[in-house]
Amino acid sequence: MATLAEALAQTLLPSTCAICGMVLPWRGSRAGVCPTCWGGVVPHPAPVCPACGSPEVEADGPCLGCRTTPPPWRAAASFGAYDGVLRELVLVFKSRGRDELAAPLAELLLATWRRAGWPRPDEVVAVPMTWTRRLRRGYNQAELLAHSLSRELGVPVVRALRRRGRGSQVGSARSDRLRLSATAFPVRRAVAGRVVLVDDVLTTGATAAACTGALMRAGAAGVHVLTIARTPRPGRIP
Ligand SMILES: [Zn+2]
Ligand SMILES: [Zn+2]
Repeated sequence: MATLAEALAQTLLPSTCAICGMVLPWRGSRAGVCPTCWGGVVPHPAPVCPACGSPEVEADGPCLGCRTTPPPWRAAASFGAYDGVLRELVLVFKSRGRDELAAPLAELLLATWRRAGWPRPDEVVAVPMTWTRRLRRGYNQAELLAHSLSRELGVPVVRALRRRGRGSQVGSARSDRLRLSATAFPVRRAVAGRVVLVDDVLTTGATAAACTGALMRAGAAGVHVLTIARTPRPGRIP
């Protein structure tokens, strides 16, 4: 049953689905998205690689890529493939100012965390955005997700990292970008214990790897990477 807050939100929000454009039914709609679209959000089929979260794994145990080149984090997991409705949701959340999607998307993060069976983290850290981009967009979507998740888990969000602008990163060749070093993410505050790093999408893994390096130097005992989605075939970090 819709709560008063939800009922109120429905009168204030646009009355068509942000994804498919259909008129929103009263029941089952959340954050301006209809129940049919929410129903199209599907998790990765089991099993997934325990090290990187890839569903491209034949049995329990790390995938070939992780066996060949172990990632720097303890484990990474995402809810589903960056495809279909899940991709649309992330894009709408990210670029159309639909920050009300943070709570339901953070629930997907929580479900992913539970499914992965990871220990309870001590701190939550969002992948930072450059201040210019943040100014343009008005918010950092990873930070909104981190705050929603931290409320669910009852652990604090620490704004541990900063992000240098592209201009101050050395080189722009693909190899340089993939080598995106931890210097792209200067530490602004120390962290402690197990840290969950939150972002919306895991693509090449280069950003998460650079942030993991920075967090380890900032005092983390270990880093788990949690994202809503991952690209179907992320490139490997060379
Ligand atoms: Zn819809
Ligand atoms: Zn893997």
